[in-house]
Amino acid sequence: MSSPLAIHGLTWAELNREARERLPKGFGRAREVYKQVTEEARYAPEELNLADRWAAAWREEFVLDLPEVVRTISEEGETGTTAKAVLKLHDGWEVECVLIPMGRGRSTLCVSSQVGCKMGCTFCETAKMGLIRHLSAAEIVAQILVARHVLGWSVRNVVFMGMGEALDNADSLFQAIRVLNDPAGMAMGQERMTICTVGRVDGIARLADEGLKRINLSVSLNAADDPTRDRLMPVNRKYDLEELQAALAAYRPRRNFTLGVNYCLMPELNDSREAAAAIAAFCAPIERVLVNVIPYNPGSDPLTRAPSDDEIDTFIGWLRDEGLPVRKRVTKGRSVMAACGQLGNPEAREKRRRLRVTR
Ligand code: SF4
Repeated sequence: MSSPLAIHGLTWAELNREARERLPKGFGRAREVYKQVTEEARYAPEELNLADRWAAAWREEFVLDLPEVVRTISEEGETGTTAKAVLKLHDGWEVECVLIPMGRGRSTLCVSSQVGCKMGCTFCETAKMGLIRHLSAAEIVAQILVARHVLGWSVRNVVFMGMGEALDNADSLFQAIRVLNDPAGMAMGQERMTICTVGRVDGIARLADEGLKRINLSVSLNAADDPTRDRLMPVNRKYDLEELQAALAAYRPRRNFTLGVNYCLMPELNDSREAAAAIAAFCAPIERVLVNVIPYNPGSDPLTRAPSDDEIDTFIGWLRDEGLPVRKRVTKGRSVMAACGQLGNPEAREKRRRLRVTR
């Protein structure tokens, strides 16, 4: 017997096809099953007026396995509550997702795409875990289902910027986007989803091939000269700034596309006047950009301190002098280790270390 399929990792068309192939009878209830799962995070074929054995057949062939909520922790701020949820997956590993208030009652859920990450960014807690494993599409989608239906969070937008590099797990990422976007299910518009990458040039090329024309893309730049970026983000040694710039300049999914350029401001590391000029030079060939300046959040082993408000404003002034559109991102969730670069699970790091020792 083949193993049961996770319904929340399938589009409606895929579930319909699989149900017809796997079930002798009762597949005509696929639409209702899909609605239960995607609209209520519930799976109850017994409620669908099926004979017991056909309901049992549904259960044998299909599952809804949501991660367990281990704990939530939150911080109040000016725009609302930032909340982090730690979720335990079926094999015991944990991932985190964060609800970020965006003002006017709107919230964005920052979701994970991997357990750990292999990209090694020196300012990031997750990097300390290394890559433990990729998440499946169902495990990515499950974070939104749990946030909405188990935790009761109001999730309007999704950003793939939690633990892991989303484009390092492109197959699962693109499938999760297809599921979230499916009009027969959650019907989340592509324009409400953002992929954030450290600059996986291969992944950007794959994204262009996927034809997801309305999805948003942002790149974590953090330095616009190769020696500094090599030090902060080892991915730069594989895809240097020239290659990344060329890939981003070529990426034009739609006429009004604006690339998000995220810049984590780290005092004495990347906050000079020259650094601001280098960002402008990097952005020059890219048609439309919006630079998001994000204050560095010191983690468990900080590279530097957090910038002061004056330092942030000065740097933003320099970027504006260079003619760049800039947005200052207010730090949210720093006290609960839910802010950018702070996701990462010390227990998981320890568990991984123990497994390595005993193997
Ligand atoms: S910043 Fe993102 S890509 Fe870099 S190590 Fe952390 S999780 Fe991975």
